[in-house]
Amino acid sequence: MNFKRAVIKVGSALIAPENNGCSGKYALAIAQFITNCQQQGKEIILVSSGGVAAGRSLIHHGSPELSGATKKAMASVGQMQMMANWQRFFDTPCSQILITQSDLADRKRYISIKETIQIQLANNVLPIVNENDTVTTDNLSVGDNDNLAALVAQVCEADSLFIFSDIDGVFTKDPKVNDDAVLIPEISEITDEIYAMAGTSRNHLATGGMKTKIQAAEKAVEHGINTYIINGTKNHVFSSLLNKINPGTRFAADKNIITAKKHWLKHTLKSNGQITLDAGAVNALINQGASLLPAGILSVANNFQAGDTIELIDGQSNRIIAKGICLYNHHDLKRIMGKQSDEIDGILGHDFGDVIVHRDDMVLLHNERDDMQNLTKTEAD
Ligand code: GLU
Repeated sequence: MNFKRAVIKVGSALIAPENNGCSGKYALAIAQFITNCQQQGKEIILVSSGGVAAGRSLIHHGSPELSGATKKAMASVGQMQMMANWQRFFDTPCSQILITQSDLADRKRYISIKETIQIQLANNVLPIVNENDTVTTDNLSVGDNDNLAALVAQVCEADSLFIFSDIDGVFTKDPKVNDDAVLIPEISEITDEIYAMAGTSRNHLATGGMKTKIQAAEKAVEHGINTYIINGTKNHVFSSLLNKINPGTRFAADKNIITAKKHWLKHTLKSNGQITLDAGAVNALINQGASLLPAGILSVANNFQAGDTIELIDGQSNRIIAKGICLYNHHDLKRIMGKQSDEIDGILGHDFGDVIVHRDDMVLLHNERDDMQNLTKTEAD
């Protein structure tokens, strides 16, 4: 398993484990994991539940069956506590992003959310997303943060979604009542049988259960996002993940979707410019599945804007080896070509990230069959 940009969803049971406000009991280890990921150059977006759970003791209520209005009042006051709880574990800034189903359904608002997250990631800010519970109504809410996290993963084009809760993953039977239940490490297809194994939620403060996690996985894998259900109460899972070992259940991303994106890049988008590469960069792209860095660029041709599609040319053979979306315009690129990524900010006075063309936004053209092998290999990693 390998990932570069991940959404991590943390459930209420990990935020407020004793049903009595926020706690660092599990959040601390998760925050440490996020920091370790960031230090490895990975980008993380957090989707955190826990508003209702954190605000529970602050709003008067009678029975454990809370009304919608009571939950909203709890969510609103608990949100502050939950955010403060996260921030105390990070030296870098956290941001709060509250969204609803209707925000995601509106194209302009969708793009606004996407741009906000992109800029925050480029500035080492940790975006923390939750549903804006106060303003939602039944038919306008996503309803649970598992599904919300899957939608957020699509908005920010994450390659992976980690759902941290207090269960180890998907079992063949409910492990709480069946001793012979076995954890399923890998699910390549989400069938009715998988849903049948889901069982129901027992936590009245959290909205989701195994069912919403599988729904979320289904949404995510359809968009090429590997999805993992992980037990965030167990400390060893974090070192496993950092060592590329899956300690829970993995839902494998749909390879056809990834291929569709490559297909779209290759066939639909018109190239506005060309970049010629040295032998090292060509090798890194073709044989190592790498993104394009400024150091390997020999020359830049034609005028293009950041976000335009360009062709990548092998300087030795003069052949077009790849097509991709360039994150810098031709003018900036001429100033940073041949330089190291950490020099970009000093030269340009701004920095849109270390890479010029991200691997995810690139399709190799040198050989159709090799390209398919690369896709399969990336998936198997
Ligand atoms: N938005 C809810 C909260 O902050 C969480 C929903 C869920 O648990 O899925 O409490």
